[in-house]
Amino acid sequence: MQDTITGSGQIRINGEPMNIAFTVPKGPCLPEALLPDAQRFANQLTDLAVARVERAGHRISCAKGCGACCRQMVPISPPEARHLAALVEAMPAAEAAQVRSRFAGAQEKVAASGLPAHGPPDGDQAAYRAFGLAYFSLGVPCPFLVEESCSIHRDRPLVCREYLVTSPPAACAALDSGQVKQIAPPSRVWAVFSRSTSPDGSLAWMPLIEALDFVAAEETPLPERTGPQYVEALLKELQK
Ligand code: SF4
Repeated sequence: MQDTITGSGQIRINGEPMNIAFTVPKGPCLPEALLPDAQRFANQLTDLAVARVERAGHRISCAKGCGACCRQMVPISPPEARHLAALVEAMPAAEAAQVRSRFAGAQEKVAASGLPAHGPPDGDQAAYRAFGLAYFSLGVPCPFLVEESCSIHRDRPLVCREYLVTSPPAACAALDSGQVKQIAPPSRVWAVFSRSTSPDGSLAWMPLIEALDFVAAEETPLPERTGPQYVEALLKELQK
């Protein structure tokens, strides 16, 4: 078991004060060691955004059992892919087999549509949006969606934590209708986490349904930075 280091303090993100705390390995580690802290930051920023819309008289319409948004393309970073692959690996064999089969089914459906398995590179916002809309039009459920609820709620990706709407649930069936009113957290932690943990600071991502194949094909990653170095990079990126 590696030694850990704990820290806390207050930062401002887009003018919003936020109390932060982290516990990470003291020495070299893989970036996924930072995920529990990043998940907490994403939850905190989402809470700030929810409080803001509620002060303005709106209500969050998302509720358990509505999995409309779980047919969107879910972007995740390589460390999140490794985290999800490890979760599947740790499931009982029968459950893991079902999840793997849903991953394969989702990939087949996307491939049959002619849509590329991976989206556009960092920076091309228009192409990213077009890719997301085309993916959504296929109606491919997330492999972790079971009976319209997230089966890995506690471990769900960062981007899933940041997506809540105040528009009527029916609007989510047509993403490009202009009727979907998303909350706007002061920062998108999924992208911040990706940039701050990628070797060159770029947005490294893949659609969630590619996670298992990505990890199976990846060479065993080596720890490149210490826990505190990852925290420093994350906080710097968060406050940009
Ligand atoms: S991980 Fe969970 S919340 Fe995210 S898209 Fe999949 S089922 Fe939905």
